Amino acid sequence: MCSRLLALILVLSVITLHSQNLIDSSQREIVFTSVNVIPMDREQVLENQMVLVKNGLVSAIGKNIKYSKEALVIDAKGKYLMPGLAEMHAHVPPNDNLESHKEVLFLFAANGITTIRGMLGHPSHLTLRAKINSGEVLGPRFYTTGPSFNGLSVKTAERGSEMVREQKAAGYDYLNLHPGLTKETFGAISTTANEIRIPFVGHVAFGVGVWRAIDAGYSSIDHMDGFVEAMVPGIESMVEQKAGLFGMFVADKADESVIPKLMKELKDKNIWVVPTQSLADRWFDSAFTPEVFLADPDSKYMNKQIVDQWIDSKKNLMANPQYDAAKIENFIKLRRKLIYECQKNGVGLLLGCDAPQIFNVPGFSTHNELKYLVDAGLTPYEALQTGTVNVAKYLKLTNAGTIRPGAVADLLLMDGNPLADITNSKKWLV
Ligand SMILES: [Zn+2]
Repeated sequence: MCSRLLALILVLSVITLHSQNLIDSSQREIVFTSVNVIPMDREQVLENQMVLVKNGLVSAIGKNIKYSKEALVIDAKGKYLMPGLAEMHAHVPPNDNLESHKEVLFLFAANGITTIRGMLGHPSHLTLRAKINSGEVLGPRFYTTGPSFNGLSVKTAERGSEMVREQKAAGYDYLNLHPGLTKETFGAISTTANEIRIPFVGHVAFGVGVWRAIDAGYSSIDHMDGFVEAMVPGIESMVEQKAGLFGMFVADKADESVIPKLMKELKDKNIWVVPTQSLADRWFDSAFTPEVFLADPDSKYMNKQIVDQWIDSKKNLMANPQYDAAKIENFIKLRRKLIYECQKNGVGLLLGCDAPQIFNVPGFSTHNELKYLVDAGLTPYEALQTGTVNVAKYLKLTNAGTIRPGAVADLLLMDGNPLADITNSKKWLV
């Protein structure tokens, strides 16, 4: 436990280097020596390198680099350095309590998660983003959606359009859509959003359906929401509760011959997908019991009250008369197949796991999601791409997601090679 905390703090001290004002020594050069670099612009390990960081940027990589006498030298012999990971479906508590924000941000940052996208925005998150940017609050680079668009917050098309304009004016990065929107309210929201150019992301409401969502031009569809439903014949005449969350109760009726059309439309419309498979594997699967979670050292980093709520959510799901463990197992397999098909067909995948949500501890769970992506058939390199280069491409950043001269020095130092075994991404420096 102690060494783990120490590891967290050490990682933190490395990743905070990108923050200009946070520590006085931010101007100080940092040099990693004898380190194995995973640059992520190609599937290769550059062995035994020196990496020099200056002013928050990687300034040189090589065998013999000159650096100043005052430089902080990190002996990284035998360790592996890769770009920090992004968590594209994170949650920062939607309240005014800065301390609760800091707790979550710390867990992400300490795990080498150097960018997050908050998926349930709150006005306080705009201030939080500014504080992170100025270095006043320690945390990953922070993108945020605005408050939720859902059946309760948007009752009319007019209100939908109005909220889009309000959130754009307030300065949110994305709009976040949730269940309960209708064809009419969704139509108004997406039309206005496209008109004034603010991307919309998140859930696909049951009444909207994935085809309409794709047509309207989601920036990212999260949870693969609506995918399974779109494969079920006659879904239009079904009620949402019967289908279950993400179509879990009707997945046995899914017609897999729809998959190629789904993939083609997603690709043609350049819609990104954040699978959050961790949620399915941990919350939905009967084999992942509360006992399994509590036996995991990660669980110690969540407060008991939240863990108790998670346990209740699991119990509630499994007590649903429609819950059939074997069928859910097949639903989870179908989701794996959909992830694999996205990768195979060139649909952009982004790393995200919906923490802190049921049995997903911020930061730790992003690493778990990498493993779930590999379980779905991605190679470790492809899985790592979803949290690095893919995110840079999605965010249109030319100097992020890779390790090369000129790139931002958002870095993660590990004890093992994640290309050889993806669970090594979770092994931090000690
Ligand atoms: Zn979420």
